[in-house]
Parts: sequence; structure tokens; C-alpha cells
Amino acid sequence: MTPPSIPEDAMDIILCLQKAGFQACLAGGCVRDFLLGKTAHDWDVATSALPDQVEQMFPHTVAVGKAFGIIVVIQNGTPFEVATFRNDGKYTDGRHPENIVFSSLEEDVKRRDFTVNALLYDPVHKILHDYVGGQQDLKQQILRAVGNPLQRFAEDKLRILRAIRFSANLQFKIEENTWQAICAEAQNINRVSRERIAAELDKMLLGGHSSSAMQLLQKSGLLDILLPQVAALQNVAQPPQFHPEGDVWQHTLLMLEEWDKTLQHCSEDPLHPRFQDGLLARASLPEKRILAWAVLLHDIGKPDTYVEADRIRFNGHDCLGARIAQEILSRLKMPNEVIEGASTLVRLHMSLSAFPQMRLANRRRKLQDPLFPLLLELHRLDCIGSHKIMSLHQEILQAWHEEQARPAPTKPLLTGKDLMNMGLKPGPLFSTILKAVQDAALENSLNSPEEAIRWVKQNYL
Ligand code: ATP
Ligand code: MG
Repeated sequence: MTPPSIPEDAMDIILCLQKAGFQACLAGGCVRDFLLGKTAHDWDVATSALPDQVEQMFPHTVAVGKAFGIIVVIQNGTPFEVATFRNDGKYTDGRHPENIVFSSLEEDVKRRDFTVNALLYDPVHKILHDYVGGQQDLKQQILRAVGNPLQRFAEDKLRILRAIRFSANLQFKIEENTWQAICAEAQNINRVSRERIAAELDKMLLGGHSSSAMQLLQKSGLLDILLPQVAALQNVAQPPQFHPEGDVWQHTLLMLEEWDKTLQHCSEDPLHPRFQDGLLARASLPEKRILAWAVLLHDIGKPDTYVEADRIRFNGHDCLGARIAQEILSRLKMPNEVIEGASTLVRLHMSLSAFPQMRLANRRRKLQDPLFPLLLELHRLDCIGSHKIMSLHQEILQAWHEEQARPAPTKPLLTGKDLMNMGLKPGPLFSTILKAVQDAALENSLNSPEEAIRWVKQNYL
């Protein structure tokens, strides 16, 4: 019987190839995840059929990576990568092979990065092809390079980051020689494009074990190169009365640990309190990305603002931090949405401490801001990652719930056009009046356009 979690469409592709006399297996990450009992996010097929033959066999194909032997087969609307067994040729740029040669299943396994990623499974005959001890490493939770680790990382430096990501996300220990090779090659990581670096860092921050990932980056020397401002958080002391946990790096790691728990619950338990709070229930992937980067970078302004006054202080670290965050994320060529969102959260991350003292209109304005749920979650993580006093957070969360329960804010009571109709001349006074009307509306002291017009007439005409 076919194991239930392998999609029928992938099975059909494999059956079709095998019936035509070719070898065909599931390959790489999906086999690893399948054996770990996890749901794979994509099911890749490896085959002895050549790309042209694959194209001829299936009606809907896209030749995305034909030069590398990869044809995407669309089966009932779902894309599957079907790759011809290959050998990678020489690597000269530290990232890509100069050419590839079509080869055998055994050869194809040897070009893959880690033993646990080098398993091929024939789901028709239920045969696991394991030429590199991947199954044993999977059982023992070890991440080991296929072949000579130094050579493998020298060939393609992206593998260095993939190693850290897989080790953290799978919680597998990196085998000693593999680890030594990572540390030895770390200095060459910038041969990888910024976009690929950013994509790997994203996957680390969103993989549910971001604290482990950051510690591995730090221990291997990669953090100094990729995110030197984050590496500089180490040994920056903080006032112990607010930060009993230690320096800024320790604080950031604790927050990441909490963030990891939140993310793990996201996928496992929709009734987890974080979701009952409703704060992250509707968070999209870009929003999670924004929050993850904001957690990592929220105190990035501290090293440069450190002063010992009446106590250790970091005046203005929020604004400086926002600028540094913007610089880091722009350098990594992140989408504008992430750059703006994360740097805004960094700038605002201290602002909730004054929330109870704000006038109602300003509180409501803040609560209605689309970034507010992320800001409040960042605030929660900041509290848990330091003094652990949660009363203020609870109070603001309560206010957020109340705001959610209020009828949705309607359009402004007045516009500039209304003011002109009242005979007022356009100028700076307009924005003052409109803001005052909006404040009053938010505080329910003005409730209709008629009331607002009367109020403006009384106060400004
Ligand atoms: P995930 O998709 O969960 O990130 P994955 O293992 O499927 O993990 P992919 O990037 O989808 O990773 O690659 C599929 C397979 O291709 C890998 O399992 C590995 O066997 C091989 N592979 C990918 N990138 C490399 C690389 N840079 N060097 C060697 N082999 C690689
Ligand atoms: Mg994959």
C-alpha cells in the first residue's frame, strides 16, 4: 500500500516514468521529511529519463531549468520538479557548476549536499536508495556533508548556510568534520548572492528554531560577516534591574526562543493562547517575516548608544536602531514591505510603555494601526525576554480586544471640502482642525458630521 502522505499526482508521475522503462524516485527533502513523519512542502522526482523525454511524456510541462536537467511537470494544477540524474561539473565561482553531465542514480546522490538530503525513495517498489548512510544519520539526527566536507563547501558556499539552517530547523547536530569545514569556509560566504543569503536567513528566522540558528551563525564566525551589527550585541551590558537575563545578545536570543515557541504553536495548535489573543491569528507570511526581523534587530541601536549615567542607558537606541535595521535589510535586498515594517517596529518598540498615559484618541489611533498586532507581540516578547512583568502587556491586549469589538471606524466626520464649504480658507489651520475633529471622534465626543460642523463653527469661525 502506498504510504498515505505521498500525493497521488507525484505517484502518477513516477508510475508513468517507470512504465516507460525509466528509473524514477522521490528525491531530496521530501524523502527526508517523509521519513521524519513531517509533511513535505514539495515533492521532487529524480529520474533516468532525459529532459526531452520527460517533456514528451507529460502534456503540461515547463522547462524552467532544462540546462540543469530540470523539467517542471504540472499535474492537476500542481507543479512537480522532475530532474534527470546528473553529475555536477567543475565549480569555479564558489557557487555554480560550470556544466552538468547526465548520470546514474548513484552518481546523482553524490552531488547532493547532506546525507539526509541524499536519500531517494521509490514509492512504487518501496525501495529506499541510500548510498551515503543518510538513513543512519537521520535516525541519529546528524547533519553530515556527502563526501569531503571541505571540498563540498568550497564548491558551493551556499551549502554553508544550508547546513546551519538544516541543523537548526531539524535540530540535528552537525558532524564534527562537517562543522570544521563550515568554520574554515565561513570567511568566503559573501560569494553567495545577497538574495540567497537573505532567503536562507529568512528560513532560519521562520523555521521555529531561530535562536539555535543565530547561535550556530555566531559560533561558526558567519554572524560577524553576515550581520556584524547583530554580532556586536554580544557583551553589551544592560541595567540588571530591567534585564536580569544578561547582555543584549542574551536578551535577543531569549526573545528569539519565545518567538520560536510562538511559531511552533502556529503550525501545531490553532487554539494556542497566542491565537486566542487574535494577535497573530491573521498574520500573513510577510508579517511574520517583518516580526521575525524586528525581534532580531529591535535593540540593534544599543551598542552605539550605550552610556553609563545614573545607570546604563541607551538613549535614542530605538530611532538609531530603526536606521540601522533599514540599512541591514536594504543591503540584503529585502522587499520594501519588510524593510519598512521591521524598521518601523524597531523605532516603535519602546513606545508601548507610555500607552496607559496617552490620551484616548492617540491610544485608539495606535490600536487601529495595521502594524499594531505585530508591535504588541514584539512588546510581549521583549517583556518575556527580560523582566517578565506582563501586567502592562495584559492591559494593552485588553484595550486591543475592546477596540476590535468596537464598530469599525467609519470615514472621517469632516474633510477639507466641508471646511471650504463653511467659508474657511485652505491653509495649515485645516490639518489642525481636521486632526482635532478626528481626536474628538475617536474619543466619542463628536459623533456625526452635523455635530462636527457645529463644533468647528463654534471654535474656529
Ligand atoms: P527544503 O525544501 O525543505 O528547504 P530541501 O532538502 O528540499 O529542503 P531544496 O533546496 O528544495 O532543499 O533542494 C532539494 C534537494 O536538492 C536537496 O535535498 C539536496 O539533495 C539537493 N540540493 C539543493 N541545493 C543543493 C546544493 N546547493 N548543493 C547540493 N545539493 C543541493
Ligand atoms: Mg525542497
